[in-house]
Amino acid sequence: MARCLRGVLPPWSQDTALAATCLHSLRKPGIHLLRERPFRSPHHSVSPAGLLGGGNPLRPGEVSLAHGGILFLDELPEFSPRALEGLREPMEEREVTLSRARTVESFPADFQLVAAMNPCPCGQHSPSGTDCRCSDRKRRAYRGRISGPLLDRIDLHIAVPRVDPTAVLKGDRIASESIRTRVRMAAERIGTTPPFVDKNAEQAMIRASASLRLSMRAVSSVRRIAQSISAYDQADTVGKSHVAEAIRLGGQGWRFVAD
Ligand SMILES: [Zn+2]
Repeated sequence: MARCLRGVLPPWSQDTALAATCLHSLRKPGIHLLRERPFRSPHHSVSPAGLLGGGNPLRPGEVSLAHGGILFLDELPEFSPRALEGLREPMEEREVTLSRARTVESFPADFQLVAAMNPCPCGQHSPSGTDCRCSDRKRRAYRGRISGPLLDRIDLHIAVPRVDPTAVLKGDRIASESIRTRVRMAAERIGTTPPFVDKNAEQAMIRASASLRLSMRAVSSVRRIAQSISAYDQADTVGKSHVAEAIRLGGQGWRFVAD
């Protein structure tokens, strides 16, 4: 799914393609201009320097090699705590600052992060919870490896339940092409005139942020998600239903934080 995401993103600009190529050429000299947005999926054993950049001379890490594209981190809690905490800066600033001896350099690192994790160490936990062999303590410790501030910077949190393979084979498929067209139109709309948040939607957001005790960052995330959903629907305004969906898509992570 993470790999497919690259195929539905809007086309990238020449400038981003050039910057991404420069970053890749620091690791692999003599490469041609990148034609496609990069997809990087480093293993969870990657060192902080491998993920964020470092070494002597300084070399860009995976976050910069994913510039303009997707950074996919599978088994997120298995990454080293230093590597995970180091992600906060590029997620916020869209660049990463590296210092070594007397030099300080920054590399662009504007990527779309997709991360996956199991609900618990054995991977079987579900709302019915019947097959899970983990204790509550073990489950909490596992989730606790992802810090609140990092979780707070991830906009969408989606539970993916086990699916029946026959349903997948029989189900309708939506072609990437039609999604890509809608995503492109939504991105253009947000770039020019982002959908206006109407009064009812504003009220719904205020109520949700109070009852869910959302952080300021989470409130602005709900607003952005709701605007994106509205633009994807090609609506002119953000309505209550867009806010409700934004809260549903973001809610898992906020519940973890509240735990
Ligand atoms: Zn379990």
